Amino acid sequence: MRPIQMVDTKSQYLHIKAEVDSAIHDVLDTAAYINGKPVQDFSTALSQYLQVKHTIPCANGTDALQIAMMALGLEPGDEVITPSFTYIATTEVVALLKLTPVFVEVDPKTFCIDPNSVRKAITSKTKAIVPVHLYGHAAPMEEIMQIAKEFNLFVIEDNAQAIGCDYTFSDGTVKKTGTIGTIGATSFYPSKNLGAYGDGGAIFTNDDSLAAKMKMIANHGQQKRYYHEVVGCNSRLDSIQAAVLNVKLTHLDRYNKSRQSVAAFYNAAFANHPNIITPFVADYSTHVYHQYTLQLKNADRDALSEYLAQHKIPSMIYYPVPGHKQDMFASFGLPQINLPITDELTACVISLPVHTEMEQDQLQFITQHVLNYLNQ
Ligand SMILES: *Cc1c(COP(=O)(O)O)cnc(C)c1O
Repeated sequence: MRPIQMVDTKSQYLHIKAEVDSAIHDVLDTAAYINGKPVQDFSTALSQYLQVKHTIPCANGTDALQIAMMALGLEPGDEVITPSFTYIATTEVVALLKLTPVFVEVDPKTFCIDPNSVRKAITSKTKAIVPVHLYGHAAPMEEIMQIAKEFNLFVIEDNAQAIGCDYTFSDGTVKKTGTIGTIGATSFYPSKNLGAYGDGGAIFTNDDSLAAKMKMIANHGQQKRYYHEVVGCNSRLDSIQAAVLNVKLTHLDRYNKSRQSVAAFYNAAFANHPNIITPFVADYSTHVYHQYTLQLKNADRDALSEYLAQHKIPSMIYYPVPGHKQDMFASFGLPQINLPITDELTACVISLPVHTEMEQDQLQFITQHVLNYLNQ
């Protein structure tokens, strides 16, 4: 059996080496390292794939979220509602822009933002909601969009973990996550479902004027060179990363399918186990399994992780400390915040290896050891 890894980008590369190498060599031959043709090509191809009007490539997913929030004209002190149970980037940019993060609960089944908790958190200062499609499952966008409409709020989707995920509305309309809110943001960090060979990110919108504004912000606040209209930043996807992503985008659906078959294997092995809750998939969402995350009940999660490590099986805790308990937000008076579901999930989740190159004997070995530990 091959050694088990949380992600295996090397083996994935070897299957598409000829395509990727040739795309990278084209960039080297033209020497257009910044804003080369692959960047425009990728932006067009991704818009087409997602069925969204505008895709603005940028340097990473954190920048994508930041640029989105900068474009909405939010003022210091404006409140932005976000789940506490997410990666730090989602909430960090809120604080960085001197906006106030308002942490709310997630649904313990989907791990995504809870619309009831959002409603309770709305004040006269609330300006935006940032749902996160955590682990590859969609947040309940139909309800979130309804709340946003009711209270006139912006919605920024953090789609860093769910590119390719489909959302089905109650009238049967299907949209890709990241294209439903005011703006969507994603990351091409190498381990993401659509990963580059370095950093990268993108912002999506169907709004022409927001698109123009975000393009300008990502480019030092200029539309015309050396004429800077607003304070922006420097956030570019380089041509080599775009060339890699152009190739990998054509494989994305296949990659997500292979993640789904890994999840199906795990689900079958763990079905009805008294200590395990396997990932839930809501009627409205597909699941692209950026992570395969179990909830352990009445079992020692950290001891399981330790036991797996002894057998050379990696596992991860995403995330060991929720946003509302991070020191970086201490100045927002967060210690008083009480999010029991988030705290409970933080203590019981464990993510098992899921990637496009997993083999049956590895999956057999992992499930066997999880069950051995729990049944001993
Ligand atoms: C990865 C990730 C980001 C940030 O992306 P980077 O490219 O690493 O900056 C933001 N939000 C979530 C939920 C993520 O998983």
